[in-house]
Amino acid sequence: MDRTDIRIEIPEKAKYIIDTLENAGYEAYVVGGCVRDSILGRVPQDWDITTSALPLQVKELFRRTIDTGLQHGTVTIMQGEEGFEVTTYRIDGEYEDGRHPKDVTFTPNLEEDLLRRDFTINAMAYNDRRGLVDLYDGIGDIERKTIKCVGSPMARFGEDALRMLRAVRFSAQLGYTIESETRDAITKLAGTLEKISAERIRTELVKLLVSDNPFELREAYETGMTAVFLPEFDRAIETEQNHPHHCYSVGEHILHSIEMVEAEPVLRIAMLLHDIGKPETLTVDEQGITHFHGHPAVGENIAKTILRRLKFDNDTIDKVSRLVRYHDYATGKHPDEKMIRRAVHKLGDDIFPMFLQVSRADIMAQSTYKREEKLEIVDAWGDMYAKIKSEDQCVNLKMLKINGRGLIEMGVKPGPSLGGILDALLEEVLDDPTKNDETWLKNRAQELIEKMQE
Ligand code: ATP
Ligand code: MG
Repeated sequence: MDRTDIRIEIPEKAKYIIDTLENAGYEAYVVGGCVRDSILGRVPQDWDITTSALPLQVKELFRRTIDTGLQHGTVTIMQGEEGFEVTTYRIDGEYEDGRHPKDVTFTPNLEEDLLRRDFTINAMAYNDRRGLVDLYDGIGDIERKTIKCVGSPMARFGEDALRMLRAVRFSAQLGYTIESETRDAITKLAGTLEKISAERIRTELVKLLVSDNPFELREAYETGMTAVFLPEFDRAIETEQNHPHHCYSVGEHILHSIEMVEAEPVLRIAMLLHDIGKPETLTVDEQGITHFHGHPAVGENIAKTILRRLKFDNDTIDKVSRLVRYHDYATGKHPDEKMIRRAVHKLGDDIFPMFLQVSRADIMAQSTYKREEKLEIVDAWGDMYAKIKSEDQCVNLKMLKINGRGLIEMGVKPGPSLGGILDALLEEVLDDPTKNDETWLKNRAQELIEKMQE
């Protein structure tokens, strides 16, 4: 690829910011991820701008700005609803635990700003005036499909250990290989990831998991990084399975299962953790066959511990925990509609479509032994769930055609007995959806009230 031929279509609003800065006598470029992604024909997530102007000089030129990280040189410029991060050229010192380096020196040279960036493919800048600025052969590394540090890998990972995990994340997103000197440095310094905050690790882990090649998590294991932030996964990789249904170690099975679900955080994390209870529940029988009795429940607790440690939000923790707990709930169960309604009530309607994906992915990552039969069962669950949803059948208290207020109007006192009556009514409706009828429910409630008063 000839660098001078490269043209990047900068969106209007970003172009306006660059032009405004340049017309005021400063330099300004789009930089980093958006340049890389544009060259690759991928849609950039956001357009970051780098400039020779100091933060206060940037602020003078625009009407609506947000002080995102003034001491680190970052001002967000609002254009309508959209925000653009504009950062002054800077030289970074060592990174601290947080998102930013400890000390920052501003510099008038673009060259120095590019030098502080992590990988060659992330260290390119572009504007319409000067074209592509690629001082560290980012284009060459794109052509070679290589993740390579700018400068000495040992030094760069020494400044900020998170870059090691970012290397694997980019290799997973782009399908690239980590250059050997860069990879060697990771294997030497993997332990220093321990200094990095849980939030920063979580961000990179999730990007890795929802990428096109989540199997690359194996590379984080091989280089010694998961031992630091996910030692439970190392144990899974090291736990063999000797069973006709399986052809991989627990960890290898997990890796294969991750790519079988849609690229969405909750689903991918659920696959990562679905069998995490196996190492702790391992038993081997006289025939040498491995068993993992009770692993979903044990796994749920381990999953919660891991997700809290990595500072995941409560909604993710709640959904993933339930998926781990019930991941094999459909196994070997030929369903009828009543069974499905009860399962939806138990697992939650909110995660049920995900649960079906988890069930299928789990099977697809096992040996081919009895695969067709196992998939038929999951298909039957899916078909019946679709029917129940299309008929809007009641699967929880919210959908019951009588509620607490209705019972109070009938004379029930607020309290545990009220909840008890609602639960009893729901039980009957789960068995027979035609009973979700206001008149029928009121009559039945009346009977239950009278029975309680006897
Ligand atoms: P994404 O598509 O995930 O946003 P990105 O390359 O834009 O990928 P960001 O984390 O948004 O990654 O960072 C923007 C740019 O800032 C990077 O391309 C890189 O040049 C630089 N950068 C980010 N984090 C670091 C870091 N820890 N060390 C050095 N440079 C970094
Ligand atoms: Mg970015």
